[in-house]
Amino acid sequence: MNADSQGIAAQPRRVTVWNEFIHEREDPKVAAVYPDGIHQALAELLRRGLPDTQVATATLDQPEHGLSADVLDETDVLLWWGHLGHHLVDNAVVARVQQRVQQGMGLIVLHSAHLSKIFTRLMGTTCNLRWREADDREVLWPVAPQHPILEGVELPIIIERHEMYGEFFDIPAPDELVLISNFSGGEVFRSGCCFQRGKGRIFYFSPGHETYPIYYQPQIARVIVNAVCWAFAPSINTVDTQTSPESATGWFI
Ligand code: ZN
Repeated sequence: MNADSQGIAAQPRRVTVWNEFIHEREDPKVAAVYPDGIHQALAELLRRGLPDTQVATATLDQPEHGLSADVLDETDVLLWWGHLGHHLVDNAVVARVQQRVQQGMGLIVLHSAHLSKIFTRLMGTTCNLRWREADDREVLWPVAPQHPILEGVELPIIIERHEMYGEFFDIPAPDELVLISNFSGGEVFRSGCCFQRGKGRIFYFSPGHETYPIYYQPQIARVIVNAVCWAFAPSINTVDTQTSPESATGWFI
């Protein structure tokens, strides 16, 4: 078992960044922030933060939304950004992603992907929340400062202008709550939430409204890089009854 775990851990991480890629092509204001698409900005921050990781991108308009069985089989962690096109995502692709999560693929769900088919299906709730586009100042506070997703992150994280996402956020109680946000309007929100489904780790991270350059903020990028490492968890994915709890930290080194 140990040999198998080490063998898997020795392979490079393989990450796929999925983006519906609609706002950037329809709204000049968004294109000005993300001229190559949000997926490319996310891929860049991952390539900078995790130079040994293989990073690919996929978008809604590709055959099978770029998420064929082969692509998913070769993906250790999938990032998901969606908003306008949730209803356009094929149910067969959603089922395939869900199956891969249950088999151990990590999933990072970003911003308005809280209403994506894959997230609501994995959560089993509406995942609705309160929102307001009004240039709020958001402060993300750690409620689990020792969590690996916050390693090396300067806290609290401050976003000078952002869309407000507020409670009640209709999700199951997270397995681990990592970050909560407050907004200048007074609202609060669970902005960094960990879940496990089957063998797969899921992290919901709320920053990333398309009209603000949030994915260029170094502390936001650091959280996403850390989340990919946390969700990779190859030794967790191969846990059996013979595996000691200590081996579960294999992802961290
Ligand atoms: Zn938004």
